[in-house]
Amino acid sequence: MKISAANVDGFRQALLSWYDGHRRALPWRAGRGLTPDPYHVWLSEIMLQQTVVAAVIPYFQKFVEKWPTIHELAAANQNDVMESWAGLGYYARARNLYKCAGVVSQDLKGCFPAEQVELKKLPGIGDYTSAAIMSIAFDKPATVVDGNVERVISRYFAITEPLPDSKPIIRRYAAALSEGRIDRPGDFAQGMMDLGATICTPKSPGCGQCPLKKGCQGYELDIQSELPKRRAKKDKPQKYGYIYWVSNEKGQVLFERRPESGMLGGMLGLPTSTWEADKKDLKHEGVFTKAGFNANKALKIYHSFTHFDLELSGQHADIKDKKSFSGVEWQWIDTKELEKLGLPTLFKKFVRLMLQNNT
Ligand code: SF4
Repeated sequence: MKISAANVDGFRQALLSWYDGHRRALPWRAGRGLTPDPYHVWLSEIMLQQTVVAAVIPYFQKFVEKWPTIHELAAANQNDVMESWAGLGYYARARNLYKCAGVVSQDLKGCFPAEQVELKKLPGIGDYTSAAIMSIAFDKPATVVDGNVERVISRYFAITEPLPDSKPIIRRYAAALSEGRIDRPGDFAQGMMDLGATICTPKSPGCGQCPLKKGCQGYELDIQSELPKRRAKKDKPQKYGYIYWVSNEKGQVLFERRPESGMLGGMLGLPTSTWEADKKDLKHEGVFTKAGFNANKALKIYHSFTHFDLELSGQHADIKDKKSFSGVEWQWIDTKELEKLGLPTLFKKFVRLMLQNNT
């Protein structure tokens, strides 16, 4: 792999000039010429891990409205933060977000470090996020490679090796373009993301309007739409479980606070059994071993996580001894409150299904 200094300069200049006229207006971005707020950059980058911009915007707006500074976020009730995050998925991010806010607010007096190695010591901040914060918040050179950047680089350099094997090659090209003596590193990183999101899009790239057309090898060879190639995905494993609907005479439904570790950790949800790869291993445990179940009201829901698909069989459980539901992990919630409750999508689906069926 060889890319000359002149090519690097040409690439950077073309991208920055395009960015000046076409940057996306996003709520976490500082206006032109203004200094970005590291709290906004960090918050948005954590939310954007595994999640598309359109889904993140309302969550970002809700968070900064509720907690305008990192000190206010650190002082918030953790359950309130988890519920505000509900629906965005990957809940370990929310737990780490809250932990990180505590460390930055208390130990670092509210200031994010401006060095990548220090940023990576904070909860929830890895290679990608530290590089993004370094470049966007502090305007320092760093190699920022998200899915958009992977696509632009794969096409520009006509990298035909499939992902994820091609990641080290893409990273080397990205480093050559974004490190060293570079003008406006933050704008360069955001320009690459914006180009990938708006012009060099996954299907039908708009090469006609692309500032990088001259020099793009994928375009020259007319293979841009086939890139980046991906290794064939294996089928996702399937898991099964029970989800319980327990109501009381006051018209309330039983919820549990899930343990901190594990899937959907720390979130409020309807009680479930363990999730098994084989249906034969399914069993009712704990307080549900003695429950009665109304088979006529059994309803199934399906949910897809990144690494597996889940089928939950809804169980309308009749439990005589409501005293078993004591302690901080259990919560009775009025049926009228259910629609506006901050719940992970999996539980929202089941709540809707049960409400539609007038349960
Ligand atoms: S010319 Fe086309 S393929 Fe090449 S970077 Fe631009 S949009 Fe992507």
